[in-house]
Amino acid sequence: MVPAQIGNWIQDRLGSSESEDWLEKRNPATGGVLFQAARSGAQVVSRAVQAAVTAQATWGRVPGVQRGEVLFEMAARLQQRRDDMARLVALETGKSMRDALGETDGAVALGRFMAGEGQRLYGRTTTSRMENRLAMTVRQPIGVAGLIVPANTPIANLAWKIFPALICGNAAVVKASEDAPATAWLFAEIAQQAGLPPGLLNVVQGYGREAGTPLVDHPAVGVISFTGSSAVGREIGARAGARLARTSLELGGKNPLVVCDDADLENALRWVLLSAFSNAGQRCASCSRILVFENIYDEFVDRLVEATRLLKVGTSDSDNLGPVINSRQMELILHALEEAQGRGCRVLVGGKRLPGPGYFIAPTLVDKVERTDDLWLHELFGPVACLLRVRDYEQAVEAANDSVYGLTACIHTESLHRAHDFGNRVQAGVVVVNGGTFGSEPHMPFGGVKGSGNGTREPGTEALDIYSNLLDLYIHTDPGKV
Ligand code: NAD
Repeated sequence: MVPAQIGNWIQDRLGSSESEDWLEKRNPATGGVLFQAARSGAQVVSRAVQAAVTAQATWGRVPGVQRGEVLFEMAARLQQRRDDMARLVALETGKSMRDALGETDGAVALGRFMAGEGQRLYGRTTTSRMENRLAMTVRQPIGVAGLIVPANTPIANLAWKIFPALICGNAAVVKASEDAPATAWLFAEIAQQAGLPPGLLNVVQGYGREAGTPLVDHPAVGVISFTGSSAVGREIGARAGARLARTSLELGGKNPLVVCDDADLENALRWVLLSAFSNAGQRCASCSRILVFENIYDEFVDRLVEATRLLKVGTSDSDNLGPVINSRQMELILHALEEAQGRGCRVLVGGKRLPGPGYFIAPTLVDKVERTDDLWLHELFGPVACLLRVRDYEQAVEAANDSVYGLTACIHTESLHRAHDFGNRVQAGVVVVNGGTFGSEPHMPFGGVKGSGNGTREPGTEALDIYSNLLDLYIHTDPGKV
């Protein structure tokens, strides 16, 4: 299966020369070294882009329907190897096999949906001002797509970008996450086995600054799709903007979940726990701000603290959450909590590393957090949520919108009127009523407003707009030649 030293995947496995420099990928559940991955730089990126340019010249002329047939086969192979893939996802992230299988199935579903888009790839036909003239729009490939992904849901993150990039007729160069090199490697192998021509999917391993930046800067990369933190997204947006390359930036969130006094509190409790702590809070769509009406605050928070205390932390299917992805991230979260307590924030439950190896943090709830506090303002990307007491619905909406982010938001209420109003007024790209802050589906467009992105939407049909150029095509006909 995956080698202990994971190289790049350029053209095909054989086309990727060995690396001189390696980085260590550790197991988040034990802290032990799992693999070495190539620590690549600009030269490797350049070779990968060259392979992509060459392969794309042919692929771009293959009809969309036929491209879709290849993608269907990729999705089918991924499904056949779902256990292999999920095992790697679980190993690299420390999440349970159950969660890893669910994520793999999501990637298969996305593959199937995008394969079907090959039969559509709709443009528009319209009328022309002139006689004997047809006017229409058609989609054209951009060329090479540079795809940069994080490790929180590694197989989903890859599928979300690779399938739409390919169906639109592009070749892809993926900068894999340094925290999930093997998942990307296996994806490339599966694509090759499915018959995707060499050079259309290239995987470069390495760190962001060393391998990601040259990909962003490469003049032959026409579109960069990045999922990751807002800080890095801003930098990528600026660099790519300087050379007028297209970008899709899917960034962080500090997502609010509002519990109204008319909510089904049992249901709200269940969804708060899932939204704040599943995947160890490492979702862009995690709920990290819980806004509770003051007349039910004490009752709800007591129940929530109790339920949080009962959550099981570990890697098995009966556990509720696993470790965070690496030691740096763990230290950052613990440090932020320590500092916050120094400023007067109160940890109600959790707030510490669990004993033993691995990067496990107890699920943590914090109250007495000022809205000017770092903990309220900034994403931590871990199992930590802040609580806020709100007077009423108006104050809940105002507090929900009091963020530089605007990715997802959720409200728990029995009132249709309130739910509808919330959807209209909350600043977010995704709003959920009586559910969680996460849970978007592969055929639906996902993305945020404000600091959570640059307004693009992936996946869904809307992703096609990121990965294709729109061409206006006018055809003049001559009635005399009929
Ligand atoms: P990150 O921004 O540190 O890294 C993401 C990827 O970018 C990695 O592959 C990394 O190597 C690369 N990278 C880092 N610096 C780079 C640079 N200067 N130039 C080019 N590439 C660079 O994020 P992370 O900690 O790996 O992931 C967590 C973040 O991702 C959170 O902020 C989370 O909200 C966000 N996220 C967003 C979505 C979404 O759809 N909006 C989904 C998942 C995760």
